Amino acid sequence: MAVETRAFEAEVGKLLDIVANALYSQKEIFLRELISNAADACDKLRHESLTQPNLIDNDAGFQIRIASNAKERTLTISDNGIGMDREELISNLGTIARSGTASFVEQLTQAVPAAKTKKGKSPRADVSQIGQFGVGFYSSFMVSDTVEVTSRKAGQTQAWMWRSDGKGEFTVEEVDSLLSGREGRGTDIRLTLRKEHKEFLEDTRLRHIIKTYSDHIAQPIFLSEVGGKSNDDAAVNKATALWTRPKSEVTAEQYREFFNDVGHTFGDPWVTLHFRAEGRIEYTALLFVPSNQPFDLFSTERKAKVKLYVRRVFITEDCEDLLPPYLRFMRGIVDSEDISLNISREMLQHDPVIGRIRKALVKRIFTELGRKAEKEPDAYKAFWTNFGAVLKEGLYEDPEQRETILGLARFNGTFTDDLVSLNSYVERMKPGQDAIYYIPGDSMEAVRNSPQLEGFRARGIEVLFMTDPVDEFWSTSVELYKEKPFRSVTRGQAELSNIPLSSDDNEKIDENEAQPDLAPLIEQIKSALEGRIKDVRISQRLTDSPVCLVADEGDIDMHLQRILKQHQRLDAISTKVLEINGKHALVRRLAEAAVGDGDKSAVDETVRLLLDQACIVEGEPLADPSEFARRLTAAMERGLIV
Ligand code: ADP
Ligand code: MG
Repeated sequence: MAVETRAFEAEVGKLLDIVANALYSQKEIFLRELISNAADACDKLRHESLTQPNLIDNDAGFQIRIASNAKERTLTISDNGIGMDREELISNLGTIARSGTASFVEQLTQAVPAAKTKKGKSPRADVSQIGQFGVGFYSSFMVSDTVEVTSRKAGQTQAWMWRSDGKGEFTVEEVDSLLSGREGRGTDIRLTLRKEHKEFLEDTRLRHIIKTYSDHIAQPIFLSEVGGKSNDDAAVNKATALWTRPKSEVTAEQYREFFNDVGHTFGDPWVTLHFRAEGRIEYTALLFVPSNQPFDLFSTERKAKVKLYVRRVFITEDCEDLLPPYLRFMRGIVDSEDISLNISREMLQHDPVIGRIRKALVKRIFTELGRKAEKEPDAYKAFWTNFGAVLKEGLYEDPEQRETILGLARFNGTFTDDLVSLNSYVERMKPGQDAIYYIPGDSMEAVRNSPQLEGFRARGIEVLFMTDPVDEFWSTSVELYKEKPFRSVTRGQAELSNIPLSSDDNEKIDENEAQPDLAPLIEQIKSALEGRIKDVRISQRLTDSPVCLVADEGDIDMHLQRILKQHQRLDAISTKVLEINGKHALVRRLAEAAVGDGDKSAVDETVRLLLDQACIVEGEPLADPSEFARRLTAAMERGLIV
């Protein structure tokens, strides 16, 4: 068969361009990525061989070999794992963009706008994070002129070679298994190093890199120099599964490398949980809470990413039942002693052992998070900023853990710029306050100055901001925390009269001031805004603004209505209740005009203008923007003439 030339998928081409030219000093990570792939290939085959033992003939066991050849300036990473056939070479290494490719290119080329990250930093990805995006293989082009992948799939006799210089195209061809050196199954990745990267041929340098990044790899890694002196028979790494080693023998660096590799992450783990459960069910878990958000945290899959092993044999990366989706930020492995090795992936989902492990893991993770929240409140807040929105999904998905999650939850609110817990909220509730008040909205900026908060501020009542999209889902189904109901300040009546105003506001609002009779005004507003509002009420939640909108008690809250409408889940937004502030000068004047024999049409005009204003404040669309502009212009004209 002839040599076939193919073009890289566009995103891959772009990525290769960036990677090859990256001014990045830690180029040695390419080796970590290739070793990680080799180890994955061994894990996959070992798993396949459970049901198809003939796939592994009697051989020396799984291993990874690294051979350097100074004369040819090549470095070859070989494994006897599952291998790839022609189609797999083509799709895995170039023509089908892997899910993370686009995100990685994006993060490499542009700074994330500050608004997108809660802390206002601009974390740009660097090349060392390549494995996180599922495109680690391409890091080999950082150091190579050409990359040749010769592979023979387990159970097949034909070997194939993929070759590329990383410049837009690659070739695939059939190769002779014997001549190519691929007598058995597996893959050789042969890199022809660029001149300036000759250092990666040196035995001591390679040894050091492997020790640093890949010591935790369970397969032995052997190093040899073609024509060189060092042809040591001992594996460079420890070659035992890291989690089987006693905690005291594992260093922080080793944990980190394992975490980076197994979790497709970067940086240090924030929490490392390494323990062995003995008793009714036996398993070892090595779990991590990352200190950074993975790029696909909010992807629609919501899959937990903890790997399942059974007695040291890798079983699967997506055992969905091992952890609930709201803990999908966790990384690591679970190695069970009780599950049958021959279990199929489908059966696995229903295995009761998995259910029991899951329960125990959830408990353990929550205990640890609770401990952290108490011992390291600041670090905990950073954790919450990263993963709180995910954890809160558990509030409606897992009623059993609801109370625990509410206890761990943190919110922004009107009292401080810091995150607060519900416990501290409840502790400082005002005498007479009977609910946990919150305001839903798109962002802190959007809710912070909402008119609906005025009366709460004036009474010193704390209001929590619920600005994560997930808040809309749980806040409608979770009723109580510590027997206190949650209540939105933008929905229903606010019964605040039994809580006194705090002293400064007492001056602003004189409770004893003669109240104008608002009834005629209310009637006039109702007729002027007929069909556009549901009702008119005198407000207890306003101090500074003349009016505001709220959803009626039995209706869906305003912000949720907008979200549902945006997603076409709601045909029409229901009409709102207009609350008026009887103490506001403008409202008082309107009230007077409504009873006197003055110009009633001027009252109508002003009332319409006020409604439009309330809509704008709320972020609701105006019924008729040009009418609004006309009215506003007219009002300004009148104001100027005066
Ligand atoms: P990831 O390892 O995150 O999947 P990579 O870019 O490192 O992403 O590898 C891409 C894919 O190429 C792998 O998922 C695997 O299917 C295939 N692959 C890479 N190296 C090997 C190998 N040594 N043996 C078998 N398959 C491999
Ligand atoms: Mg990889």
